Amino acid sequence: MKPQQPISFEFFPTKTAEGAEKLALVRDKLSVLNPLYFSVTYGAGGSTQEGTINTVKSIMEAGYSAAPHLSCIGSTRDSIKEILQLFISLGIDRIVALRGDLPSGHRDVGEFRYANELVEFIRAETGDHFHIEAAAYPEVHPQAKNAQLDLENFIRKMDAGADSAITQYFFNIDSYLYFIDSCKKAGLDKPIVPGIMPITNYSRLAGFSDMCGAEIPRWLAKRLAGYGDDIDSIKALGLEVISTLCEKLLAEGAPGLHFYTLNQSKTTLDICHNLGIRNH
Ligand code: FAD
Repeated sequence: MKPQQPISFEFFPTKTAEGAEKLALVRDKLSVLNPLYFSVTYGAGGSTQEGTINTVKSIMEAGYSAAPHLSCIGSTRDSIKEILQLFISLGIDRIVALRGDLPSGHRDVGEFRYANELVEFIRAETGDHFHIEAAAYPEVHPQAKNAQLDLENFIRKMDAGADSAITQYFFNIDSYLYFIDSCKKAGLDKPIVPGIMPITNYSRLAGFSDMCGAEIPRWLAKRLAGYGDDIDSIKALGLEVISTLCEKLLAEGAPGLHFYTLNQSKTTLDICHNLGIRNH
């Protein structure tokens, strides 16, 4: 892997002091790979705001770069303005800007309807302070009316001032390559970094993939399901498949890799080891 192709790692915020300690160990193990940043997810409707901020703070206090995710659905302009100011005061200069999804039972969408409005607002309020990452969906966002409109919406969001994007995870490389190609044809040439989901547990992966619209190819689903409770075999096949996917992505010119670590280090480290990524 060339040094200019950065890697980044995603965490979700922990809820307990014990969880925070464990995550610090995971972070330190992953830090040997010299990631560009660690990102920390943000619960729908701001539900994990405190946890996200505390996790980001602890990453930064340990001397690493951190990027909080920020979702806008259900928020007011004032509340987003306040949190942006807090981010600036903490020395944060990178954000993953999202619409998010309203938690079930909530009806008030708030003052932002889509992520392009959040990106535009961040730029209007804070100028060039933040490097803004947005979300991309090579297999089409599950709520999109159709693929073409989803692409147009994505381009609108990038044109509103996002610097780069991270994709939803996918297992079919063609979906990513076609998406990149369509963006280029539409005149968009900003980095779109593939999001990588390590495979460690089939039933959890299947449930989550259903929800977020990521397709597990039939051959892979059948093989993983066939292993039943044999976790070691699931992990071994998962490692092989994801390492190969990453290798091909980099060979095709992907501008980096963003790992959905699920707050675990082992599988991500193993994938990076297979790719020959060390401390660069
Ligand atoms: P948008 O870009 O606003 O798109 C949402 C839908 O609306 C799409 O179908 C799009 O086609 C459509 N759309 C967009 N703009 C318009 C417009 N102007 N007019 C009409 N239709 C439009 N969720 C969390 O809650 N917390 C997280 O931390 C989090 N992190 C994520 C990180 C990554 C890298 C990714 C890929 C997803 C993440 N998500 C997270 C999930 C994300 O919040 C959901 O997928 C959400 O449904 C969409 O967010 P978005 O920012 O992509 O929305």
